[in-house]
Amino acid sequence: MNITDLTLVETIKALKDGEFSKEELNKAYLERIEKYNPELNAFLEINKFSSGIPAGIKSLISTGGLKTSAASKIIENYDPPYNASVINNLIQQGVSVSGKTNQDEFAMGSSGENSAFGPTKNPWDINKVPGGSSSGSAAAVAADLCVFALGTDTGGSIRQPASLCGVVGLKPSYGRVSRYGAIAMASSLDQIGPFTKSVADARLVLEWISGGDHRDSNAVESKFQVTSNKLQNNLKGVKVGVPKEYFAVPAGRQEEEEEEEEGLDLGVKKVIEDSIKKMEELGAEIVEVSLPNTKYGIAVYYIIMASEVSSNLARFDGIRFGGSRDLFGDEPKRRIMLGTFALSSGYFDDYFIKAAKVRTLIKQDFDKAFEKCDVIVGPVSPTVAWNLGEKIDDPLKMYLSDAYTIPASLAGIPGLSMPVGFSDDLPVGLQILGKYMDEETILNVGEVLEMALGIKDKPRL
Ligand code: GLN
Repeated sequence: MNITDLTLVETIKALKDGEFSKEELNKAYLERIEKYNPELNAFLEINKFSSGIPAGIKSLISTGGLKTSAASKIIENYDPPYNASVINNLIQQGVSVSGKTNQDEFAMGSSGENSAFGPTKNPWDINKVPGGSSSGSAAAVAADLCVFALGTDTGGSIRQPASLCGVVGLKPSYGRVSRYGAIAMASSLDQIGPFTKSVADARLVLEWISGGDHRDSNAVESKFQVTSNKLQNNLKGVKVGVPKEYFAVPAGRQEEEEEEEEGLDLGVKKVIEDSIKKMEELGAEIVEVSLPNTKYGIAVYYIIMASEVSSNLARFDGIRFGGSRDLFGDEPKRRIMLGTFALSSGYFDDYFIKAAKVRTLIKQDFDKAFEKCDVIVGPVSPTVAWNLGEKIDDPLKMYLSDAYTIPASLAGIPGLSMPVGFSDDLPVGLQILGKYMDEETILNVGEVLEMALGIKDKPRL
């Protein structure tokens, strides 16, 4: 048995059965970190004294005694005097923070390249990006450098890197998990969630980290409870919604064309369609749904997110946390300027208020669609992992890669990203969206599909 191949559920069982000790577990993972991290750059800081179940934690999430730099020079050496609530919850379950993972600076980005400490590499191909912003958490789980990891998702930062790295990623419903101790990016969108090696693992970590918290007034009291899967190895009785807008071939484009800048890559499309067919074979009823306002998702997100960013990042004024504002990278600066503009008195009604209204329409699209189905499926990312450097000089192109993840963030609903196949030898993730606070159904459906597909491939390092 290879210790570092095991899922979280398997690791817990093996520890209980005395197959290995926690010391041996940590030693096995630390050896892999030392061997592969110099190349992958998934961890920014390693905890050599980890003694519980080793988990990688995004550098945006506060951990007392370990740096919480947000991958930014401005708070490069910030060591918070307290733990985020999720960290205290994990420690109670016997987990320890084995390291702090790399990310896009302040969680702004889709490729991991906006880190002030160098890009993370994709374990499937080190010339490719791992996705972002939780780049290191996704890469660390894919490369078996930790049992599981935590990331944050504001517009896709858990689901998209999970898809590009071939691991499971879950963005819980807004308010399901306390955000206390996570450095705020856009407070009405941010959620903490797990990266795992299986769907069952994501279910378990969600139970551990969910629940009310008097320090985050948005955290709802109801804790997610692990229950056994109600579906018996099939999807009978499950209505799977497929949004017609997700698969539209952009006007003027031929089916044969290999790639189109703004559309869904045909290789990815095929894998997603095959997995929908598989769900049908498993007994699911496939129903067409419509999300007509999806096309405004990116525009709305970049107004609301940037507005909240400009307000949240004002605390990094050089006085409270030290540092100097010249140390912000280009992307945070760009968004602070955009947000300040959208909130300025002459433009507030035209931009912020309008975006807030369209956000409501996007949410209503989902409410309507969920009258016809239990889950909604589609791609996570329009393409597989792209080359390092390919989009870094074109922010707009980078923003467009989030088209499929952003609407669920704006609506506050949960989304699971799970590996369902490969295109060009790179992993493709399926997104399964659920009703608000109904993580259980997306996890149940995901687990049945995971079992049926039985994908066992790992990156060859
Ligand atoms: N890629 C998106 C952005 O750049 C999402 C980031 C996130 O979810 N933190 O804003």
